[in-house]
Amino acid sequence: MAETAPRGERLNIGLFGRRNVGKSSLLNALCAQQISIVSDTAGTTTDAVSKIYELIPVGPVTFFDTAGIDDTGKIGKLRIAATRKIINKVDIALLITDENGIGEHENDLMKTFNDLKVPFILVFNKSDLIGKLPGKEPACPFISVCAATGNNIEALKQLIKDTVPEHLKNAPALVRDLIREGQTIVCVAPIDSSAPKGRLILPQVQVIRDILDANAYAYVVQNDQDFLKILPNLKTPPALVITDSQLIRQVNAVVPPEIALTTFSTLFARYKGDLKLLYEGAAELMKLNGNDRVLIAEACSHHAQDDDIARVKIPSLIRKKLGEDIHFEWSAGSDFPADLQKFKVVIHCGGCMLSRLETLRRLNECARNRVPVTNFGMALSAMQGVLNRVVQPFGLSK
Ligand code: SF4
Repeated sequence: MAETAPRGERLNIGLFGRRNVGKSSLLNALCAQQISIVSDTAGTTTDAVSKIYELIPVGPVTFFDTAGIDDTGKIGKLRIAATRKIINKVDIALLITDENGIGEHENDLMKTFNDLKVPFILVFNKSDLIGKLPGKEPACPFISVCAATGNNIEALKQLIKDTVPEHLKNAPALVRDLIREGQTIVCVAPIDSSAPKGRLILPQVQVIRDILDANAYAYVVQNDQDFLKILPNLKTPPALVITDSQLIRQVNAVVPPEIALTTFSTLFARYKGDLKLLYEGAAELMKLNGNDRVLIAEACSHHAQDDDIARVKIPSLIRKKLGEDIHFEWSAGSDFPADLQKFKVVIHCGGCMLSRLETLRRLNECARNRVPVTNFGMALSAMQGVLNRVVQPFGLSK
């Protein structure tokens, strides 16, 4: 159900609007339960409340109920800033208004949604009070509902489904389009000190599941030496080897050239983002020199270990290969710098916790600022001289 779908696979839906237009009541009506505190007092939702839910007929979603966009005072301004950050996360926005119709705040939010290309639905709540729509009919998708009575809530769910962007409906496959039923695929998943205790990491789990969904067979080994041990046992050679990028140099050395080889990061570059853009970014990375500035961006915050890939491994490798004076800056979580122009290259994490749209928004920001962008794994492949091999299964190598 919704709770078991990875965060990045759920549709993010935000509820935005002034205080007291009924955002929290609407969330409760959509989920048919009491999630958000509902009160007639304006400003009851002070920080964004998120709720994971299986929204039939849409599928697994995360709802974000946000603070009123017309909040006041010092704290109010901070809440508005937090609400604006949520806009960057969502795939679809519900802009809720009431009998007061569309005013300055609604127009301001609609402009932001349009600028960020966030599809939105204008929801006139309190239809029992409104009677007919206040003002003229809007040009965007809209609906009149009553959260208190449940009137038209099912129609709103259907409208949400109809508003899901095409590129999310037709997201690229993870791996199954590269393989056929009955083929054997070998995954190289190192279990080292950076691996989480007792489980595989999410990208590995998702790839293995996609292989099984294709009715192919997944062999999982820990490293290049284990690969060499199992190879003679396979009746037919594997159709594809997928390795953790941190072992790409070693695995590349033992996988015969006639067997296709790629990395989990390359698969995710296509699945979550834009493989061609990230491939070109990795090629640009190799041109770094002098005092060039590099941004290393991670989509979530975590405690950095001694051999942390973002803080230690990638910077050391780049400095060793391309220049000791290359300068690094880091961003984590929902913070993604606005002044991207100062960077020569952005290296982003795989974004396993981001939705495809959140990832694409970040990549588009880099492209808009004309800053090449790649991901951690593709950067490692480029620096080990195997970038062209890992993109070959996608018909991209030069
Ligand atoms: S930093 Fe990026 S790749 Fe790592 S867990 Fe977070 S979202 Fe996933």
